[in-house]
Amino acid sequence: MDTQAIYQSLSSLFPPNQLIFDASKLSPFQTDKSPLLGELPVGVVEIHRSEEVGILLRWANQTGVSIVTRGAGTGTTGGALAAQSGTVILSTRHLNHVLDLDLQNRCITVQPGVINQEINNAAISHGLFYPPDPASLYICSIGGNLAENAGGPRALKYGVTGDYVLGLKGFFGNGQPFSFGGKRVKDVAGYDLKRLLIGSEGTIGVITEAILKLVPLPPFRSLMFIGFMSTQDSLKTLYEIQRLGIQPACAELIDWLSLKSVSEYLSLNEPIPTFEAAILFEIEAGSESELHRQMEQINWLCDRSAIAFCKSAISETDIEKLWSIRRNISHALRSASPDKCSEDVVVPVSQIPELMKLIRGLNSDQVEAIGFGHLGDGNIHVNFLRRTDSIEDWNITRNKARDILFQSVVKMGGSITAEHGVGQTKRNFLPLMFSAEILATFAQVKAVFDPNNILNPGIF
Ligand SMILES: Cc1cc2nc3c(=O)[nH]c(=O)nc-3n(C[C@H](O)[C@H](O)[C@H](O)COP(=O)(O)OP(=O)(O)OC[C@H]3O[C@@H](n4cnc5c(N)ncnc54)[C@H](O)[C@@H]3O)c2cc1C
Repeated sequence: MDTQAIYQSLSSLFPPNQLIFDASKLSPFQTDKSPLLGELPVGVVEIHRSEEVGILLRWANQTGVSIVTRGAGTGTTGGALAAQSGTVILSTRHLNHVLDLDLQNRCITVQPGVINQEINNAAISHGLFYPPDPASLYICSIGGNLAENAGGPRALKYGVTGDYVLGLKGFFGNGQPFSFGGKRVKDVAGYDLKRLLIGSEGTIGVITEAILKLVPLPPFRSLMFIGFMSTQDSLKTLYEIQRLGIQPACAELIDWLSLKSVSEYLSLNEPIPTFEAAILFEIEAGSESELHRQMEQINWLCDRSAIAFCKSAISETDIEKLWSIRRNISHALRSASPDKCSEDVVVPVSQIPELMKLIRGLNSDQVEAIGFGHLGDGNIHVNFLRRTDSIEDWNITRNKARDILFQSVVKMGGSITAEHGVGQTKRNFLPLMFSAEILATFAQVKAVFDPNNILNPGIF
């Protein structure tokens, strides 16, 4: 079908204000937060009511037109981009309502276009909160979080998106509606297709509603920022903190190069001492005295380790100021190297010192390699920054560094992606982790729900 035929056909199903087919308005849909430039889509359908997803998917199955679902477009692996010409984008940005806040059952029902932070805006005044906190929480949508099984710093204590999903509604790729789970905490009836949808990157279905678990908000928190002379020491200290019965909500690792870059970006103008691994520990407690007791114990442990600095924040303003250092690393690195390449690998926690050593070894005259991320769960974001004027040199050396990184993490017992997904940027690396038979099984699973390969084709 050509563009005109697609437009005419969709015009009989959707009002004009829900269709974007003017070529001059389509270029924003060619990019997300990955370095890729997707194919220019034929058009965009803005979904206003859940049922419209079913209408669009049934139409796509009849016409053979591919559909790519787009939430907020903050994905870093190109999952929301058209991989082939002739694609229509299904945008959920107007499906953005909080439908129900149920305090008795401690859950919230949301549409997929709701921005992550808005869930907490609704819950926090009731003493409840939704823990999964990707660093993009102010800009990413819950639909994208579900599709990627997004994580964040708090995963150390609270887990990731999938751990908070009680129910899901939507449509499979073949247009069939689904509704799994509900406000019940336990349910083992049938295959757990809800779990299959979470992290399936929009390849088997489109989520139109989610019931998410909320948990009590700890009344007191503090943030400790400690610079260790070795990554090994930072890990040892985390283990010792946990052995004392203190479970930090977060233990975020920032390397020296990241801190230098973000300090320049935020114009902090503070001297940065030499260190190898700076860790942001977020501590939570039920009372102020308990919070201070935990902080004293951590200070005591740090006194026994070689540390370069230790800062603490207790007021919300100071805590958010410290957090802004972590949340701005990605922006700082992008401003230093607009075409930076960001990878998201994970290794068993004990392998983190080895991984950080490997990352330092990937530095060259053409590529600067920087690692930061989640000490507590082994997930390190490796960013490659361009240090050469030659695009050719940059492409060759960056790809070589990335190949070494991926091969090494798999050898360490890790994975090529922990929370950002496979998308278009990593699909060619899946054979590093899975045999041809398993990849064929993935394709068979997709075909059960999306037999005409309509949704996000080409990823699995
Ligand atoms: C500065 C920055 C920091 C980040 N930090 C983190 C982090 O700490 N942790 C983390 O996990 N990620 C992080 N990300 C990555 C990104 O924000 C997440 O992957 C997020 O979950 C994507 O949400 P989105 O709404 O932008 O999805 P999009 O980019 O629009 O889409 C992502 C994928 O989800 C699919 N999808 C979207 N909505 C639906 C739906 N309703 N049904 C089915 N499929 C759907 C799309 O087809 C696509 O495959 C970061 C990104 C940036 C730019």
